[in-house]
Amino acid sequence: MDNCIFCKIVKGEIPSTRIYEDDICIATLDINPAAMGHTLIIPKEHHNDITDNTDEALLGHLFKVASIVGERQKERLSADGFNVLQNNGTAAGQSVMHLHIHVIPRYDNDGVIGLWKPLEPSMEEIAAMGEKLS
Ligand code: AMP
Ligand code: ZN
Repeated sequence: MDNCIFCKIVKGEIPSTRIYEDDICIATLDINPAAMGHTLIIPKEHHNDITDNTDEALLGHLFKVASIVGERQKERLSADGFNVLQNNGTAAGQSVMHLHIHVIPRYDNDGVIGLWKPLEPSMEEIAAMGEKLS
């Protein structure tokens, strides 16, 4: 897609540091990492987000690659764990409108706090929400 920064990365029109590539996706280092080694899994085909004309095979593949990258972060960077994150829509923090998955190495006591402040709804409120979303 014209003017999509990740399509340009996939095509090699702008530089990136690829650490993995196959027929379906690339994995490249984020230029503003949350931690060193922060990697983006980017499908070669353009999809705006996870709901945009995606299928099980594509999404399954992207998450499989995310798991491979996360394992690599543990083995080669001595990460204690890793986050797999995926943002959809500007409200959710998506800034590049080409589907991608973040894989971020984490360390015990790295001081990074959670993304949200947990609510404390009643069991009735949880049940009502369950009805809405079932
Ligand atoms: P999101 O906010 O989920 O859309 O994530 C977009 C990510 O892309 C951010 O973490 C940016 O730092 C990263 N990013 C933007 N431009 C580039 C680029 N040219 N190369 C690598 N990462 C990029
Ligand atoms: Zn794109």
